[in-house]
Amino acid sequence: MRHSVLFANDTIVAPATPPGSGGIAIVRLSGPKAVALLRQIFFPSCHTATLAPRRLYHGHLRDHARQMTMDEVLAVVMPGPHSYTGEDVAEIHCHGGPLVVRSIVDDLLACGCRLAHPGEFTQRAFVNGRIDLSRAEAIADLIQARSSGAMQIALAQLGGRLQLEVESYRSVLAELLSFIELHIDFFDEDIAHPDFSQVRLSGKNLSMRMEQLLAGFDQGRVLREGVSVLIVGRPNVGKSSLLNALLGESRAIVSDIPGTTRDTIEEPVVIGGLPLRLVDTAGIRETFDPVEAEGVRRARERLASADLVVLVIDSSHPLTSDDHLAMSACVDRRVIVALSKADLPRYRHDPALFPGPVVELSVHSGTGLDELRQQVSSTFLTSSDASPESFFLADRRHRAAVLRAHAALTRFLAGLEVNASAEFLSADLRDALSAVGEVTGETTPDEILELIFSRFCIGK
Ligand code: GDP
Repeated sequence: MRHSVLFANDTIVAPATPPGSGGIAIVRLSGPKAVALLRQIFFPSCHTATLAPRRLYHGHLRDHARQMTMDEVLAVVMPGPHSYTGEDVAEIHCHGGPLVVRSIVDDLLACGCRLAHPGEFTQRAFVNGRIDLSRAEAIADLIQARSSGAMQIALAQLGGRLQLEVESYRSVLAELLSFIELHIDFFDEDIAHPDFSQVRLSGKNLSMRMEQLLAGFDQGRVLREGVSVLIVGRPNVGKSSLLNALLGESRAIVSDIPGTTRDTIEEPVVIGGLPLRLVDTAGIRETFDPVEAEGVRRARERLASADLVVLVIDSSHPLTSDDHLAMSACVDRRVIVALSKADLPRYRHDPALFPGPVVELSVHSGTGLDELRQQVSSTFLTSSDASPESFFLADRRHRAAVLRAHAALTRFLAGLEVNASAEFLSADLRDALSAVGEVTGETTPDEILELIFSRFCIGK
């Protein structure tokens, strides 16, 4: 069995639904005693002696001391290996009251099972070979997805797209390795090397496929993790009003007293399928007020790490020295200029002064807001990105592993050119194989696996 540290074969229990009240809740059991434990407390209305697999039974739960009815429920058993975890699984669909759930779980614990760790059901599915690591991670991503783009990436990964891609790398690498090992005698005897043209060709093809996968990472990351968009400008140009308009609520304080937003405000929002962290900052200006100065310092600090800056300039007003200060803070950043208050009589600005594309807008009349949204999302995405067919490398861990595999493959190809020894060539291929195996979990160290599964919630 792989990953012996993670392997446990006791029976575990946990609520699979979130804490709090709801219509129904599900309590899930997995392990060799799952069905027996269910039968200890569940009494089907049809008085059947055995519960047929994957069929819902109506009945009552009575605590194991048989003194009181705990709930009227539906129950189902899913015998391994064709279950989520690969083990025997039983589920109780009870009424969704926290007390009901707690008393069922407590009673099952008293009957002799253990409370599951976060992610332990999925961890067992992985250990039992039901899913590879990339699919297990996709389950956590799917649960946490905040945008349709992130959801599509997680679904493609859950469907095995990344696993399939990476397993095809493995088979090419394994073929190359067996070729090198088959011809190891040629290397040793220092006679003419075998014909490596086919090896070279498939190595180069594989290298190109890896490069293609890696090239999609930026798009994948943007969809999975989202991007930070910073709203900057001098005080009173309409930054907070713009944030509220984009969020559709009054989150930031709008006031005509300059300097009201003294700290940064960060809010998640989805624009055109793209998850954003929208950050409103203190207005950038020269100030002697220490609290405001701290806000300005933080705004400048955030500027350095933002993926995109929306620089707000008041279209009804000539540029002030503070506008110039804000513009100079945006140097070298990706910028969209929002010319605000377009409902007011316009001052004729020279667009050549602006550090990025310009969108005229008015929060009061609503004009230009859609254009700004469009500009923001098209800065990061092409229109086909969030389609169901799209498939991207989106996780930093996966990227690091594919990068390592690519580097080892590049060493191998370079070694071929200089007639390196078979030991060197096969060591490079083994490194590439091991790196690729980290994506699917074959070669992932146990500490990393534990870290990955700890990201899950209880009951998953
Ligand atoms: P901030 O200091 O840059 O965050 O600016 P605020 O959002 O607090 O707005 C400053 C002032 O400009 C407030 O009185 C707003 O009502 C006004 N304001 C904001 N957006 C617009 C707009 O589109 N049109 C007009 N006419 N006034 C606006």
